[in-house]
Amino acid sequence: MDLEEFLPAALKERGPLVFLTGAGISAESGIPTFRGKEGFWTFGSREYQPQEMATFSMFRSRPDEVWKWYLYRRKLCLEAEPNPAHHALVEIERKWGDRFRLITQNVDGLHLRAGNSHGRTWRIHGDINLMRCSETCTSGVLPLPEDDASPHCSNCGSWMRPHVLWFDEYYNEEWYRFESSLKAASEAALLVVIGTSGATNLPMQVGERVAARGAYMVDVNPEANPFSELAGGCERGMAVTGKASECLPRIAKVLLQD
Ligand code: NAD
Ligand code: ZN
Repeated sequence: MDLEEFLPAALKERGPLVFLTGAGISAESGIPTFRGKEGFWTFGSREYQPQEMATFSMFRSRPDEVWKWYLYRRKLCLEAEPNPAHHALVEIERKWGDRFRLITQNVDGLHLRAGNSHGRTWRIHGDINLMRCSETCTSGVLPLPEDDASPHCSNCGSWMRPHVLWFDEYYNEEWYRFESSLKAASEAALLVVIGTSGATNLPMQVGERVAARGAYMVDVNPEANPFSELAGGCERGMAVTGKASECLPRIAKVLLQD
């Protein structure tokens, strides 16, 4: 079966059309995923992996170095442009409105810059363009200042921190839309997973919930991954081997037909 036959059947079901994106969708915009050498950061006499840098424990011991790493990564994000896969998701939201949900692991801001709405773009790992008090004297989230100065909380004087979910932290609803994402998975007519390696917790739960319900599921990735296994293993699932920028416009074409 191909997408052109598969997707119209999914549209006939009741429930939201859920899109789950990971670093792979932004790879073609030039933002490195966490898997390659580009993700490393050097300070002192050694190289650190993202799994070491993106932690609250590293921030506690070296807030200055963690900020340097984030400001460098943020610069890469600001220099990047949305690609045809991001644009396709904007078209799909325009067509489907309230039925559309976008759950993204990406912190790069490209979905919003492409034109997806704030309300329907759930940034489950936060946003590299935002910060908050590291002591949570308030839960408020602010834009990063333009001047790249080391930011401190105007309320309590503590370090501000990037508004991202670190490897040693937990999801919640207020900042990361944890319950909303699980609810969307419980109701989805269709889940389309794009460019995600399945290494993080909430995305895997979303995929497993959709698969357990026997809802329609598509995985788009040039490489085999846990979502392609889930999708390939269920009756209403389909694993599409390919790049996001080529496959998403094809998916949009079908979903935009009346
Ligand atoms: P990952 O780096 O672990 O995996 C990326 C996946 O994308 C892989 O499965 C790879 O095969 C696939 N991929 C590569 N090129 C692709 C393409 N052109 N089209 C489609 N798929 C492609 O990323 P992850 O699973 O999203 O999770 C890692 C964590 O890193 C997340 O927590 C995320 O927040 C963070 N992260 C975010 C960004 C970003 O915001 N752009 C970048 C790097 C890491
Ligand atoms: Zn504070």
